[in-house]
Amino acid sequence: METIKIKPRGYCHGVVNAINTISELAEKSTTKPIAILGMVIHNKQVVDYFTAKGIQTLHDPSKTRLELLDEVDEGIVVFTAHGVSPQVYAKAEAKGLEIIDTTCTDVTKSHDVVNELLEQDYDIIFIGKHNHPESDGVKGISDRVHVVETIDEIEQLNLPGKVALTNQTTMSLYDIYLLAEKAKERYPHIHFVDEICNATRIRQEAVASADPTLDHIYVVGDRMSNNSRHLRHVAIEQAGIPATLIENVTEIDIEQLKQCTKVGITSGASTPTQVTNEVYEFLRNFDPEDPSTHDTSTKLSTDTLLDRPRKHV
Ligand code: SF4
Repeated sequence: METIKIKPRGYCHGVVNAINTISELAEKSTTKPIAILGMVIHNKQVVDYFTAKGIQTLHDPSKTRLELLDEVDEGIVVFTAHGVSPQVYAKAEAKGLEIIDTTCTDVTKSHDVVNELLEQDYDIIFIGKHNHPESDGVKGISDRVHVVETIDEIEQLNLPGKVALTNQTTMSLYDIYLLAEKAKERYPHIHFVDEICNATRIRQEAVASADPTLDHIYVVGDRMSNNSRHLRHVAIEQAGIPATLIENVTEIDIEQLKQCTKVGITSGASTPTQVTNEVYEFLRNFDPEDPSTHDTSTKLSTDTLLDRPRKHV
């Protein structure tokens, strides 16, 4: 099958930094318990890898980072690339925990923007996913930060003073601008600061301008990964190409693939390269007439998943 790699794709610099920092921690001989507050990235295989190395992941989607911290009373706590609110930082310090902070520099920049806007007396409409760790981290900065997902939620807000609009780093570039236009109708003087991170932006732009003759685009990524879900959405909405989000090679639908002659492949910023490569090799070797190329079982084990990632954009 003719298979086109859409570039750039896969791990971003924030994920590479988080994984490498935690990998180094795993290699150090320490008797202290180590807990990661939430999933290091939204990828179960990576979480399993660190669990096997003795690093506990505290994951409960119904709990905030602040609530998860109740489960850590000693040792080392790791903050993920999504960032945390000031309250989480203060609580970890008050508990006497050793903090390893892998917050992505792009998320830190977004917190800085929010703090500057607050100093200038703005109320802030923050376009992000409810109950997502990054949104929760920003919301915790001030009760003048209002997290919204839809234009209806923007319209329901009643903000009498200065209003600014910004966003979670991994949202859809295209949705953000539509929402900003709508928000302008409600708040004509709104001050918009686009905080889509560069990694998200260039991955989405690459998908939006994908070869229009592709029959299908496979986005390799975890269903919990915000940026992976948006890549699929961008493929369908912007490039006009059918797309499927798959976690790994085992989720490829052979009957669907038989309808295609040329496909594209991309992956979310938290998808291990080995998982994407296995999907790529499968697609490339696929021959609709040859059943020996239809075996979708994975040959990857947790141990092979985490060759140290290299630098990425
Ligand atoms: S997706 Fe963007 S903000 Fe999130 S970790 Fe990667 S570079 Fe940082």
